[in-house]
Amino acid sequence: MPYDLLLRGGRVIDPAQNLDGNYDVAITGGRIAAVLPSIAPSSASEAIDVSGKLVLPGLIDTHAHVFEYVTGRFGLEADLCGVRSGVTTLIDQGGPSCITLPAFREFVVNAKESRVVAFLSAYLVGGLEGHYYPSLYEPDCIDVDATVKAANENRDIVKGFKAHAELGGFARWGIEVMRLSAEIARQAQLPLYIHFGQLWELPESGANGVDPDTILEQVVPLLKPCDVLAHPFTRHPGGFVNREGKVHPIVKEALARGLKTDVGHGSHFSYRMARIALDAGIVPDTLGADMHGYNTRVPAPRGTP
Ligand SMILES: [Zn+2]
Repeated sequence: MPYDLLLRGGRVIDPAQNLDGNYDVAITGGRIAAVLPSIAPSSASEAIDVSGKLVLPGLIDTHAHVFEYVTGRFGLEADLCGVRSGVTTLIDQGGPSCITLPAFREFVVNAKESRVVAFLSAYLVGGLEGHYYPSLYEPDCIDVDATVKAANENRDIVKGFKAHAELGGFARWGIEVMRLSAEIARQAQLPLYIHFGQLWELPESGANGVDPDTILEQVVPLLKPCDVLAHPFTRHPGGFVNREGKVHPIVKEALARGLKTDVGHGSHFSYRMARIALDAGIVPDTLGADMHGYNTRVPAPRGTP
């Protein structure tokens, strides 16, 4: 038998080979051995009829939250978002921190069928149920040296860093969190993935003079090519589309300079904002799903906030 396995009659979509059509796919030794309009079933030890189904290369979810249990009800089970959803590689965005990375390696990376890597949280606490506790994410809760060290000693699973540039934080602490996060990324020579769009509620003292439409222009000068501007279609203030309904001019400059943008669908996506951004020529580089415990219907671990 030349082939171990044959997937017959599915619709193969493989943009890298410019393929979209009905093909048979043969696999040998865990690798794709042939993709042809028709392959004889007798040439494989096992043949599976996949007609009516999509046959895709393993998808990569560039924005996952799969630090299950450690991040309260926020983190999902990795294989649910991964191999059971057609996704073979997951990038956890800011779940583990320099403190909790060993647990992430042991209980997620090593334990799951899906390939899992991380953009390490810039914050010591990592991505706990942080939407509700902004004071966990203030500048005093960042340790640049410790976070760089964690990344450098775990280069196989740490592929970048995650931080937030949004109104609730800027109203409390200004740009300091972003400055420290960029410093971490530069020292470790890895990309920084930045959440845009308001996440934390305002402090009791209000916005403290911060105009959300100025956050991008404050942050972009700190960034380097391959850093990622996330949530381009956010419906929350402080994103790519300003309050006049126009894409901030600095976005195009940033993307022309080599910065990237990731959808980060999650709880942020707005069709109206997507239409405005796409019409302005902003086409995201990657399609992170940003699924987590707040935007999916999975039971919360018992007793979480
Ligand atoms: Zn997210």
